[in-house]
Amino acid sequence: MPFDFVLRNGRIAGRDHELVDIGVREGRIAAIGPKLEMGASDGSREFALDGRLVIPGFVETHIHLDKSCISDRCTCRTGTLQEAIETVAAAKLAFTEEDIYARARRTLEKAIVQGTTRMRSHVEVDPRIGLKGFRAISQLKRDYAWAVDVEICVFPQEGLNNDPGTFELLVEACENGADLIGGCPYTDSDPHRQIARIFDLAKRFGMDIDFHLDFDLDPSWMHLDEVCRQASEHRWGGRVAIGHVTKLSALDPASLQRVGAKLGDAGVAVTVLPATDLFLMGRGVSHSVPRGVAPAHRLREQGVVCSLATNNVLNPFTPFGDCSLLRIANLYANVAQTGRPDELQACFDMVTTLAARLMNLKDYGVAVGNPADIVVLDCTDPVSAVAELAQPVLGMKRGRVSFWHAPATLNRPDAILVDGMQSGLTARAASPTNDNNNN
Ligand SMILES: [Zn+2]
Repeated sequence: MPFDFVLRNGRIAGRDHELVDIGVREGRIAAIGPKLEMGASDGSREFALDGRLVIPGFVETHIHLDKSCISDRCTCRTGTLQEAIETVAAAKLAFTEEDIYARARRTLEKAIVQGTTRMRSHVEVDPRIGLKGFRAISQLKRDYAWAVDVEICVFPQEGLNNDPGTFELLVEACENGADLIGGCPYTDSDPHRQIARIFDLAKRFGMDIDFHLDFDLDPSWMHLDEVCRQASEHRWGGRVAIGHVTKLSALDPASLQRVGAKLGDAGVAVTVLPATDLFLMGRGVSHSVPRGVAPAHRLREQGVVCSLATNNVLNPFTPFGDCSLLRIANLYANVAQTGRPDELQACFDMVTTLAARLMNLKDYGVAVGNPADIVVLDCTDPVSAVAELAQPVLGMKRGRVSFWHAPATLNRPDAILVDGMQSGLTARAASPTNDNNNN
């Protein structure tokens, strides 16, 4: 049978030394090997990858689509976490479903062209916003299923026990298509009770859990202990993730080792959100400001499943964001002072394979039989991808091209500026069957 597409001479992460062709048929990867026969079919197409790196796309384990792109309607003075929560809570009162959808769409489209093919979006639920965010993101999830798989994690950002009506809304969302349940014990009047109620909900609906947790720099106490205890008690290991955990950046190596062992034993995964954590932590300090980013690479060395993620985009929690997970990996590597090839590879893993493991994705990977989720990066290996922020040049979701970027072309003094730029772009737009040889 002919392939719908053949991608020629790519390098698959993990087997970087060999060049292979990837044959795609009916939305799936049908064959991987050297010099695949295209088969006779008028509709089939080839892409010449010229040795570029092929990955199954980046995996965004933690992003807030619903409250993205509101920097222009928020005024912040102190830059603290408390101020960010209060400012967004106030702005949220004016959110409509259409407004949430439009802002989230802008953010999601940026993530798609940065090569993200899988995503977990946290969505806030409380009596003031109701299910507006949940409905808007659910609609967006359906509308963009051609480019990215989005799973929705509903959670009580402003507390659960202190906010009557929130629990019932979480239940309603879980009954109507939420994929998993989140928590935010640090804003709750009774953090341990919130953790217990979230575990109860997770068991009731058979869902994974993803907590916002331990988001300060005081290592003398941690909600992490209670989450690990309950994960073990409920035998929910492998199904629980915690995000931020900035407290861990304030631990000495021996204490961190103990926490790593506890996380590993309980099967609790960790997501580090360097952009937000760098922006919000250490605000009370006038100089030698602590970085406040949990050392994910150290935990990973102990076998803890770790990911790096975006969290917030253009709002008081993080007034930046291009939705590039490669940039987040690069940012983390820079902040964590991890620059050796094995360390940069680990940063790459934390936005790809390890992130997929955190989300319990069973069909992620460039392998025969998996969905043809393919992103081509303009580099030859994961280490240079992180070090040089390699541009994603082509994306495919379930065997359909979902985006492409025209590579930059130097306009040398001796070049004739034909319709150079213009024709290059339109040629690609008209026919993505490119040869990548014009640079
Ligand atoms: Zn978050």
